[in-house]
Amino acid sequence: MKRTIIRGARVLDVEARRADPAEVLIDDGTIRAVVAPGTAVSEDAALIEAGDRLLAPGLVNGHTHAHAGLAKGLVGDRVPLEIFLSASGAINGNRTVDDKYLSAALSAVEMVRRGCTAAYDLCVEFPVPSVEGMQAVAQAYFDVGMRAVVAPMMADRSLFQALPGLIEATPEGLREDVRRVVAAPYQASVEACRAILKAWRHGRDRVRPAVAPTIPLHCSDEFLVACRDLARDFDVRLQTHLAETKPQAVLGVKKYGKSLTGHLAALGLLEERLSAAHAIWIDDDDMRRLADAGCSVSHNPMSNLRIGSGVAPVRAMLRAGLRVGIGTDGTSTSDGQNMFEATRLAALLSRLTTPDYAHWLSAQETLRLATTGSAGVLGFRDIGRLAPGYRADIVFLDLGHITYVPLRDPVLQLVLAESGAAVESVMIDGRLVLDRGRLTTIDEAKLRRDAVAAAARLDETNAAAAAFAHKIADVVGAFCIGQGRAPHHVHRRLDEAAYAAG
Ligand SMILES: [Zn+2]
Repeated sequence: MKRTIIRGARVLDVEARRADPAEVLIDDGTIRAVVAPGTAVSEDAALIEAGDRLLAPGLVNGHTHAHAGLAKGLVGDRVPLEIFLSASGAINGNRTVDDKYLSAALSAVEMVRRGCTAAYDLCVEFPVPSVEGMQAVAQAYFDVGMRAVVAPMMADRSLFQALPGLIEATPEGLREDVRRVVAAPYQASVEACRAILKAWRHGRDRVRPAVAPTIPLHCSDEFLVACRDLARDFDVRLQTHLAETKPQAVLGVKKYGKSLTGHLAALGLLEERLSAAHAIWIDDDDMRRLADAGCSVSHNPMSNLRIGSGVAPVRAMLRAGLRVGIGTDGTSTSDGQNMFEATRLAALLSRLTTPDYAHWLSAQETLRLATTGSAGVLGFRDIGRLAPGYRADIVFLDLGHITYVPLRDPVLQLVLAESGAAVESVMIDGRLVLDRGRLTTIDEAKLRRDAVAAAARLDETNAAAAAFAHKIADVVGAFCIGQGRAPHHVHRRLDEAAYAAG
């Protein structure tokens, strides 16, 4: 048995809002005990000296996309979701299996360096997912040393097929071009996904598979049902982007005659294994349905702001009994993989939704969302706390960093002031993946060289797709502004929120 003792640190107790000096005893990657200084005795244990360090539970990312790691700087400045999606060929196209590995590794390294130890990753491949591609993404997480749930993100409708009225709104000269943008038939994706789940070679311990029908409007009913059945057959988690933007919510009602949540309910997708990413444009009835079915939500505030999707009703979700976690979303729509930033933003954004400060998210409850809350989204029961029986996923923060000088309220200062700059070491599954600023698992200098070379090659290969995306951006944008102005009973944008109750 491999034993480790971490000595000399302060250990964050989120519930008690304290960080007292303590020793952490770890056996085979599991925390066995958190005890008073000088009381952990084990002759054969490896010692980690952590004086002047704050040990915090690793942050858990409820929603991200591996493919976005290589897409830095590719998404324009003022770009809403639908324009971003219309450019996805230019942003994510023509990737080799090596590129897929590289992109996932880039994301994973950034997460680790920002104190994140586990992530739920929805990864896209065109036209359908592949065993090699998903294995490459899983291998990247495995090699970096992170914990992850990796799901092929699939659709059987392109954006133009998905949004009713978009093709008709496209000018004559471009209509034939957008008609040619079609997704693969759903049977091909289902078969590919089944092969991926069958061939999974990482077990279910640290890197697990899952299923991700990307966005309800982008998936036929038959496809959604097939994804539900696949997840049941292989007993894996299921995640989708739910009511992320107002155009989705408005067009969902138009297409299905009910809310997107109601549509998923009618197809039998609401169950404990399902998590919804974003869930901004949902009403009380939707929240109750999701909560009653045991579903969870990943709240992704940075992405929600970057692409102008709105502010999710997190307090109302919690009141409805929904399990909520926090996510970064992919780098394409959040410009990085910083869970400290996402956590702080979640706490602060809640303060814009009501003047009644008793309903704002407290630092303590926001940190719970980013740890045990997201762990529930991923379906891991034994991560997110520094307590006996939990896996040793631990962030070592430098208490000498200016953020903690002086230290008075560790939870408050961690949530409202930490940027990730004080992250010094990161342990995942009992192994120091980041050791005093140095990654111990993969060669970061090589990763950087490979990423620069891959980006240059991909930008050249995808130049024609980028030119097409540029041509249609305003068409998609104008259509979505129209949907954004259409009446809908849920108001989640700040300019319309007018201090909605909750
Ligand atoms: Zn996403």
